[in-house]
Order: sequence, then structure tokens, then C-alpha cells
Amino acid sequence: MPRPTGRFAPSPTGPLHAGSLVAALASWLDARAMNGRWLVRIEDVDTPRCVAGADTVILAQLVACGLHPDEPVVWQSQRGAAYQGALQQLLQRGRAFPCACSRRDVESAWQARGQVRTRHGERVYPGTCRRGLQGKPARAQRLRCTADDGSDVVMAWTDRRLGPQTQNVTQAIGDFVLQRADGLWAYQLAVVVDDAAQGITHVVRGEDIADNTARQIHLQRQLGLPTPQYLHTPLVLAADGQKLSKQNGASAFDATDPLATLRAAGAVLGIVAQGTTVADWLASAVQAWAAEFAPAVSPPTA
Ligand code: GLU
Repeated sequence: MPRPTGRFAPSPTGPLHAGSLVAALASWLDARAMNGRWLVRIEDVDTPRCVAGADTVILAQLVACGLHPDEPVVWQSQRGAAYQGALQQLLQRGRAFPCACSRRDVESAWQARGQVRTRHGERVYPGTCRRGLQGKPARAQRLRCTADDGSDVVMAWTDRRLGPQTQNVTQAIGDFVLQRADGLWAYQLAVVVDDAAQGITHVVRGEDIADNTARQIHLQRQLGLPTPQYLHTPLVLAADGQKLSKQNGASAFDATDPLATLRAAGAVLGIVAQGTTVADWLASAVQAWAAEFAPAVSPPTA
């Protein structure tokens, strides 16, 4: 049985705000409640979106809240060889394929079929390059999202908070990108490779990314990797009712009063804990978490 291991995997696009701290705290509490390891991984693959120095700020914010990683922090920008290896394996087995399509090509392919299939404003890939590049240069690398017999990939999984989930990955997502046209690694590939490489058994992260899970499980299976358990935490809403995010100007949380900050994050998770120091509050919060989210692996009894 692998040691229970959780992680917090922020993208360094700015300091942590009240919403991202909820995911950080929840993943830490979950790991501690299982007597497991808690790791931090800086997801800096999407370099144009990264802000210089944000990683240092994030790590300092975590420490200010008493959330110390158990092992050295990993930066995804250092992990290109692992992603390349995984892509190579998928290409060799015909599970991934190079794609020559620009955004406009994808658009016209759907128009030619008289259909419009979009998801969050993005068009689902119509499968154009599945059977070859037709002499065009490869731009991106995509994962084939159909079952071996050609049927749809219908993925069912159970979220520890949200309950049973299901998604038809073929219809809803299609053959998704593993390496972008600009050569950057896609989040989906990096997260799956790293969760496995770091032995992550329990993923705890914000509900806004819950709908990436089905395709990540599909990718894990294509790579022969284990599937962790998933728990997606509630989002913190901004005054306008939108999800609090760096995009709508969420500010860094107040690190001068970490206890108040932790209490607020705990309240979002339904955690009421006691304590007048950060350490005492966290210890009490671990008990409250264990009672609410009964960890899937029991802590050792000794
Ligand atoms: N890097 C992602 C983010 O900051 C989180 C990815 C994950 O936890 O799987 O939104």
C-alpha cells in the first residue's frame, strides 16, 4: 500500500488569494488526517501566464500559514524530459498523434459539417489529423480520446465530496492537446505525469477544475499509471458572485494575520477548529477534517 500522499499544485500566476488557500489548506489537512505526506508542486508550464517571483511569494504564504511541504518543492519547468518520455510512449503506441490544425482549421471543419460543438468557448477537436497530417507540418500533439474499439470514452469516477461523476470524454472534450503548437506542455499531461511520479494517492483541489478529472483518468490509463482519489473543494465567490480568481483581481490574502486567514479558509470547508495559535488551530482542524471527510485510508492505529 503506497503511503498516502497529497499535494498542492499552484500555478505561479500571482500570490495565493483566499480561494487558492482553501485548496492548499484542504490538501494539507487531508494528508495530515491520513498521517501521510504533503507535497508542493509549482505548475509553471504555461510560461506566458507565469509571473516572475510569484512562486517565492506563494511558498512564503504557505509557510506563514504553517503549511510546510514534507519534501523539496518540484517545479514543472524542470520536468520536460519526463513529459517528453510520456508523449513518446503514447505516440509509439498510437495513442497520441501529431496535429496540423490551427484554431481556424478546427472551426472550418465544424462549419463544413454544419455543426457547432463548443465547450467553454473552445471547439471540441473534430478529429481531422487522426488519420495523418496530409503533408502539413505538425503543430501540436493530441491524445486519442476513443476506446480501443472506437466507442466513446465514458468515464465514471467518484469525488469524495461531490459524489459520483460521469463524463463522455469523447463527446465533451475530444482529442485534447498534450503539447501545444508553441511547444509548451499542456497542463493535462504535466499534471498526470507528475501526480504519478510523486506518488500522489489523494488529489484535493478546487471545484473549478473538477471537470478535468475524467480526461486525466483517461490519460492515466493510456500511460498505465494509477488513478488517485479526488476531492474538489468549494470555491470562494467574489462580491459579484463570480469565482474568486486572479483574473477578477482577487488580492493576496492577509499574511499578517494567518490565524484569521486560516479560520476563513476553514469556514469555506465547513471546518470549525479551536486554537489561538496557528499550530493549535491546524491540529484541531485535522480532527475536524477527518470527521467530515473520513479519509479513504485510515491512519495507523499505533
Ligand atoms: N495548477 C492548477 C491551478 O493552479 C491546479 C492543478 C491541480 O491541482 O490539478 O489551478
